[in-house]
Amino acid sequence: MDVTRSKFLKVKCNDCQNEQIIFGNATTRVDCTVCGRTLAEPSGGKAIIKTQILEVLD
Ligand SMILES: [Zn+2]
Repeated sequence: MDVTRSKFLKVKCNDCQNEQIIFGNATTRVDCTVCGRTLAEPSGGKAIIKTQILEVLD
């Protein structure tokens, strides 16, 4: 999923079900704090979310 707006996202790790808040414009790779799975990768100034998005926070 491609998220272009500067918002915080609540995501759920596909591997361990851990939920965490990440920034939609992440400029560095974001890993799951529990299992280390990649949750988001930067791509041209926005983040490509590689796991399940539960909620977009305003
Ligand atoms: Zn995980």
